[in-house]
Amino acid sequence: MTRLAFPDYPDLCGWNALLAKRAPKPRAEGAMAVKYAVVGAGYTGVAAARRLAELDPHAEIVVLEASDVGEGSAARNSGFASPRDIPATASEAEQRHTAALNRFGEEGFGWLVGLMAEHGIDCGLERTGRLKGAATAAGARVVEGLRASARDLGVPHDYLDAAGMERRMGSRYYGCGLYTEEGHLLQPAALIRGLADSLPPSVRLFEHSPVRALRRDTKWRLATEDASITAECVVLATNAAVKQFGYLRDRLVSIYTYAAITEAMAPQDAAQLGGMANWGLLPSHRLGTTLRRVGPDRLMVRSLYAYEQGLDARRVQETLRACFHRRYPGLRHVGLDYVWGGTTALTMNGAPWWGKLDDGLYASAGCNGAGIVKGTVLGKRLAEHITGHGTHADVGATYGSASRLVPEPFRRIGFTILSAIGRRKAGREA
Ligand SMILES: Cc1cc2nc3c(=O)[nH]c(=O)nc-3n(C[C@H](O)[C@H](O)[C@H](O)COP(=O)(O)OP(=O)(O)OC[C@H]3O[C@@H](n4cnc5c(N)ncnc54)[C@H](O)[C@@H]3O)c2cc1C
Repeated sequence: MTRLAFPDYPDLCGWNALLAKRAPKPRAEGAMAVKYAVVGAGYTGVAAARRLAELDPHAEIVVLEASDVGEGSAARNSGFASPRDIPATASEAEQRHTAALNRFGEEGFGWLVGLMAEHGIDCGLERTGRLKGAATAAGARVVEGLRASARDLGVPHDYLDAAGMERRMGSRYYGCGLYTEEGHLLQPAALIRGLADSLPPSVRLFEHSPVRALRRDTKWRLATEDASITAECVVLATNAAVKQFGYLRDRLVSIYTYAAITEAMAPQDAAQLGGMANWGLLPSHRLGTTLRRVGPDRLMVRSLYAYEQGLDARRVQETLRACFHRRYPGLRHVGLDYVWGGTTALTMNGAPWWGKLDDGLYASAGCNGAGIVKGTVLGKRLAEHITGHGTHADVGATYGSASRLVPEPFRRIGFTILSAIGRRKAGREA
């Protein structure tokens, strides 16, 4: 058996720290024989496990999570979730593609909203609308493309000049932006904790139980530190950590990105965060900085990317603080209470990998930086596929499938060069 690694974060997730403490489920111990073993309790894993339980109610299911639910990547994100996106341009092909993606978005988002209502999951979900901000001329062109697209599709929107941006989010940093009504914000740690804690009774969740080995003889055998599990079927819901099991190494890249939440601000400082009570801003360059207001008196800032391994903590602190203070020079005295990193999985063509890896072995991975809704719907669909419910040709037809990456060392060199060029191009968007 091969020894396996998984993302083991040195820092605490700020979203989790803002919530009341939660008692994790026990570690896996002893020998177990189950029908389904799901590895990973992020959005993909909990969706797959829940749907398997719904469709195969007599089956025993285990979910094995390496960390604490609330400390994994599913909790470490910025909390932007939406059933629908606007096509980046007004081209017919782009509109058709986005409409197909939106059908999956609506399915996943609708399922999540139903679960929140059914199980009383209070994750602060709010339809805040979405700001796309531009701090550069290239960014302004992106905003123009979206504006044309929104106009074409009759999507309600406001084009904002610099003064309009400042009125909404308090910063003079952005030259222009687009506000669209579609777009929701939520507290990601509250959501993933709520989803994990409301799994059906036939699903046993074990935390602090990283799967260290996976092999197959007549059945699949998984080993954690203290347990050995035999399963007829295994779902790898570990995002880029699927590679640790020897699969999809030529398809997935693990990228670290970082976020911080400020300390609670005094009312006169919080007044500088603009006239909107709750807002989230996405950058107009893929290597740009995301911002969102958190409650009445805090701000979240997300930025930085690193290939396959985490960055030095001091550099992360300084960069995130600089991103925040550049945008809000009047808040230079406000510090960061929480700073943390998380991983996301990128693929060459931006498509996820979804389906069967081997007999009785399935995976859904490659979130490409947005996996709350996508992970949910693809985890749910994977369970339906495994249990023979419905046809799922629309998954590949809509998302495509992760294409092959160039081999190492060219992959690392390519990423380093492209991200250096990207950072230069991103300029003030970063
Ligand atoms: C800073 C940041 C900001 C982001 N912002 C957004 C956003 O605003 N909106 C959005 O939709 N997405 C966002 N994302 C991406 C989002 O977090 C991911 O797409 C999502 O978490 C993917 O869900 P998943 O279940 O597929 O994988 P993950 O959430 O990564 O879950 C995989 C789980 O598998 C576990 N695992 C790994 N290896 C093992 C093992 N060997 N044994 C057992 N368990 C294992 C991990 O601990 C992890 O909990 C962001 C990500 C980061 C890091």
